[in-house]
This record gives sequence, C-alpha cells and structure tokens, in this order.
Amino acid sequence: MKTKTIGQQLGRSSWAEPWKIKMVEPIHMISRNERAVALEKAGYNTFLIRSEEVYIDLLTDSGTNAMSDRQWAGMMMGDEAYAGSRNFYHLEEAIQEYYGYKYVVPTHQGRGAENILSKIAIKTGQFVCGNMYFTTTRLHQELAGGIFTDVIIDEAHDAQKEHPFKGNVDLRKVQKLIDEHGAASIAYICLAATVNMAGGQPVSMQNARELHALCKKYDIRIFLDATRAVENAFFIQEREEGYADKTLAQILKEFCSYSDGATMSAKKDSLANIGGWLGLNDRGLYEEGCNLVVVYEGLQTYGGMAGRDMEVLSIGIKESVQDDYMRSRIGQVRYLGELLMDWGIPITRPIGGHAVFLDAQKFYPHIPQEQFPAQTLAADLYLESGVRSMERGIVSAGRKKETGENYHPSLELTRLTIPRRVYTQAHMDIVAESVKNLYDVRDQKKGLKMIFEPKYLRFFQARFERL
Ligand SMILES: *Cc1c(COP(=O)(O)O)cnc(C)c1O
Repeated sequence: MKTKTIGQQLGRSSWAEPWKIKMVEPIHMISRNERAVALEKAGYNTFLIRSEEVYIDLLTDSGTNAMSDRQWAGMMMGDEAYAGSRNFYHLEEAIQEYYGYKYVVPTHQGRGAENILSKIAIKTGQFVCGNMYFTTTRLHQELAGGIFTDVIIDEAHDAQKEHPFKGNVDLRKVQKLIDEHGAASIAYICLAATVNMAGGQPVSMQNARELHALCKKYDIRIFLDATRAVENAFFIQEREEGYADKTLAQILKEFCSYSDGATMSAKKDSLANIGGWLGLNDRGLYEEGCNLVVVYEGLQTYGGMAGRDMEVLSIGIKESVQDDYMRSRIGQVRYLGELLMDWGIPITRPIGGHAVFLDAQKFYPHIPQEQFPAQTLAADLYLESGVRSMERGIVSAGRKKETGENYHPSLELTRLTIPRRVYTQAHMDIVAESVKNLYDVRDQKKGLKMIFEPKYLRFFQARFERL
C-alpha cells in the first residue's frame, strides 16, 4: 500500500484538532552543555533524564495525555469510598458499552491486568501466541510459566515493507503450533491492536474474524491487548472494505467481539494519566481475577485507582471513540512522519498510530546492533535538540528466558511517540527539523556500551557509556 500525503488523503484542514486550548504548561530548553551533563548523568538512557531537562517530550504516549475540561470536571466528582465507588460503576458501564466485555476488573495500569490474566490463564509450559511481543506483556506471561511464541506476519519484521495491516496474525503459524503440539498446549492468543513494537501497526477486522474462527474450532481463547484498539479501529475504517461508513465505536465493538477478554492500559487510548482494566466474558475467570486483584491491586471496585481516576477514564473512553478526534490524532502523527519521509529519513512504514519510528539501523548503518544504534539515536537526539524519544530495539527486547542470550530483533527502532492533545503542529516541525539536523551529521556519531543491566525490563533502567 502506498502512503499518500496528508494533503492527498485528508486535506490539510480536515485533521485539525476538534478542540482549542484552555490551559497551558510552560516548557523550555536548557543549553546544549546542560543537556550533555544531564545525558551523562542519565547513563545515556532517556528514561533516566528528568522531565524538566527535556524540551519536547516524545518518550511515550503513556499517561502523557492532556485531559479535556469534561475530564477535569469529572475529577471533582470522585467518590473516594473504599468500596463500591459510584465512579467504578460509570467505568464498568463505559467498558461494557464501548468494548463489550461483560465483566471488568479494574487495575492501576496495563501491567496490573497482564499480571492477573497471566496468572489465571497460563499453566506452566504452555505457549502464549502473540502478534509480536510487548515488553511487560511477555514478561508477565513468562513469569507465569508461559512460553511466548511470535505469530505475526513476516512483513512486520521488516521496517521498510508496506502492508496495510502489518499487525496481522499469520494463521498458518498458529495452525502449525496446533498441529505440532496440540491445541491444549496453547494457553491463549494474545492479540495486540495496534502492534506497538512493530511501529503502531494495525490488525484488520478480517484477520481478527478469521483468527476467532480458527480458535473457536480448537477451543483456544483470544485475549486482546486493547491498549490502542481505538487507534486500530481508525485504520480499519480507513483501509478495510465495508468499514468506511461505520463509526469507530461500531468498529471497536465488533473487533472486541472476536476476543474472550482484554487487558487495557488506559494511559494510552483512553486519554487518562493512569488506569487500566481486565475485561472478561467468562464468569469463572472473572471470579479468579477478582480473587487476585485484591492481592496485587486493591478491591475489585477500584483496583489501585482513585475514584476520580475512574471517572476521568470513563469520560476518556467516550472521547476516544469520537471520529474527528481520532482523525486529528493520527493526522498529527502522519504529519510528522511525512515531513521525515520527504527528507529521506528512514522510518517504519506505513506510518503507524501513536508514533513515528526511526529506523536506527538505516540511520546509523555504521553502528552494529551490539552497540545499540537505537539507544544511541535516542541519546543523540536529546543531546542535539532536547527532544526525548525512546529505544525500541535490542535493549527493549531483553534476553531469552531459557538461555539468557540477547534477543536480536530485526527491528532496531527509535520511537518518537506523540502524546495525545499535547503538542502543536509547530512542535512537530521542530521535532522533524531536529531529526534532520542529526541525520546530516550521522556519520560522526559513535555507539554505546551497556555498563549496568537490570534483570527485568532492562530498557527502563539500564546505563550506558559512549564508545
Ligand atoms: C503500555 C502498554 C502496555 C502496558 O501498560 P502499562 O499501563 O504501561 O502497564 C501493554 N501493552 C501495550 C501494547 C502497551 O503499549
């Protein structure tokens, strides 16, 4: 599929944000010398830089959303009762209405739900199939005794390959596992939509439907990673036959109907700063989830969230499925990506939902993967411009559980993640120019050496030195 320019696709004005700004937060840029000191102090890991040392913060879209006036008003309506807060019931109703799951277990964020689901649905030694891994998701699956198996289509592992639904599951890979090990060897399919690690790439409705049919035949459950399922719905509406006239809300509901439940990081799609949930259709599993939520998160009517957080979230869900909002959201991501493409800067294609991913291996062809090109690129971009991004390559991939060897992912990416409703088009221009300036001097840059490596999720806290 050919990516059209924003102008061709939407017309420049048609992705304009359907809101105006009511409150502002000052940002400023510290000097290059100060950034050099900050970067060294942070061990060349952008997760360890203080937010005040950052100019434009594209580390993540997680919990960095700007809330609406309605959500701020909702904060004042928090019912901070320990048990049975009215805000929980608002949240439960919103999830039932928009995602369609019968039962809701609230959690403090996505990984809280992943922990509970992994513990109740995986038996030691079972496979968990996923359309590419996600860091926290795979770790919880492994800690629960599962063996993660990647079943995404091959195209997803090639950053330059164009495919309208690069997040799709390769059904033949699932069938092969069933044929070789039997259906009972598979705990469940973990279906992510969109696929973060592949570049925010969507899954088609057809693929979800066919996966559902296959799994039904063998009695295998599907659990959705619904973190960016609304962004996924936008791509279905745009690219898949028969969906152009359906609303995002209709598409989301149908998509979720092909799954047995979902884990949710509400810090992404749902326009909140904190929160998550586990949605389930099976009563027995729900009861097990309720049993564990009180161990790890909090009572089953708050799960680690304050009443006001749950109110914010229930309002955020409704705002997230509005078509004009999502058009502006993805329009802004594309605007940045297309500026970079116009300048010949290598990025993952097609441009995904929540971020523009720089292809660090192509950006720094002289830096081998063992010297962390994507980590280097994130560090250099901060140094040169004050723009914060994050590594999504060999550092994020971590080590194999069985052998302790490094994974060597074929994608070595640096993610410019766009917070929702936070930055303007002028900020995107500055980011693009910053990347361009760095690209122009790219052959002068040297890689990194890891000098501290934590055991779990090393990308968060690892430290590096310049070679
Ligand atoms: C962020 C994220 C998670 C984990 O959620 P947290 O709220 O950060 O714990 C899971 N899956 C995907 C795809 C994510 O992007």
